[in-house]
Amino acid sequence: MLKLDSHSAGRHFLHIPGPSPVPARVLRAISYQTIDHRGPEFGQLGLAILENIKKIFKTKSPVIIYPSSGTGAWEGALVNTLSPGDLVLMYETGQFATLWKKLADRLGLKTEFIGKPGAEGWRYGVDAAKIEERLKADTAHEIKAVCVVHNETSTGVTSNIKAVRQAMDAAKHPALLLVDTISGLGSADYCHDDWGVDVTISGSQKGLMLPPGIGFNALSTKAIEASKTAKLPKAFWAWDEILESNKTGYWPTTPSTNLMYGLHEAMEMILAEGLDHVFARHQRLAKACRAAVEAWGLEIQCQDPAVYSPVLTGVVTPDGVDADQLRKLILERYNLSLGTGLGKVKGRMFRIGHLGDCNELSLLAALSGCEMGMKAFGIKLKGSGVVAAQEVLQD
Ligand SMILES: *Cc1c(COP(=O)(O)O)cnc(C)c1O
Repeated sequence: MLKLDSHSAGRHFLHIPGPSPVPARVLRAISYQTIDHRGPEFGQLGLAILENIKKIFKTKSPVIIYPSSGTGAWEGALVNTLSPGDLVLMYETGQFATLWKKLADRLGLKTEFIGKPGAEGWRYGVDAAKIEERLKADTAHEIKAVCVVHNETSTGVTSNIKAVRQAMDAAKHPALLLVDTISGLGSADYCHDDWGVDVTISGSQKGLMLPPGIGFNALSTKAIEASKTAKLPKAFWAWDEILESNKTGYWPTTPSTNLMYGLHEAMEMILAEGLDHVFARHQRLAKACRAAVEAWGLEIQCQDPAVYSPVLTGVVTPDGVDADQLRKLILERYNLSLGTGLGKVKGRMFRIGHLGDCNELSLLAALSGCEMGMKAFGIKLKGSGVVAAQEVLQD
């Protein structure tokens, strides 16, 4: 039988880029007794959550909270704003952009996928100039939405969303801007209102330090207007009834009561640390992680230093080294979980998550596990990544 509480000495090091470790404070909050989701206390909790979540997205507009994974929130964004056969411009940055496109195709949207061709495209962020060029050519305004992934979790590349907005404005194109920051929210700076995003999609299990099970859509006035005429079938995902119920702090269906306790607690923690401090901590850890990779003499998956992800680092394994075999050895020997290579980069890279409830020593432990594991696997390393990371962190 599978024993989920079987425990080797010491802690498990969960360094995949989501789900990320859940702090004890959040776990304790989740363990409170489940209450009536239509009772007076829940309404107060609901209102507090709906107010605080706006601070996390940096928006004054409403944020929809679904009891779903991030994929559900992707669907929510599309079905509320678009109609069957609408053309959607999507940008291939990696596996998550690819999966979102697949979902859009299945919903009956027409999708156009642009980006650098081949696996090479998975090493760069969105090129806003390409979007501008395509939108300028669309004089009939057939394109109804532009969809981009802010933090591409499969590669460790963060795209410049502000530049995408500027490109859309420069093309004077009326398409909606839909952005996935499922793995960026609460780890990488994100400004829903200032960047002019119409729908921002996110989830609970990455930077927000919660277990999986909550999905978000942050809205704009333009997105809410679009939802009134959009014709893709929608029922569970429909924003209108949720927005109505939310006015008094409730939801039309049963929210994930205990995860909502956790969300409230996690936001208290993030806001107490201060968003700017949270982002600076992630940048610092990411820098140390990259220093380690460079000291090992290995390649970082992201090829553009301007868009290195503060959330995770993709490490390309040397030719002939199966990254998944290496990950297996590291998990078995050191109880350290690293992210697998997905899609086009399967077996060619692994991912080190440094998001959410992560500090200097948790990162250094993970880097130690990687370093010992790679040596045990027979990989010739140029030098010590752990020492290089320590030097960055001692500054
Ligand atoms: C994790 C993730 C998703 C998928 O979310 P699920 O919760 O697995 O449905 C989508 N996009 C990005 C960028 C992600 O990191």
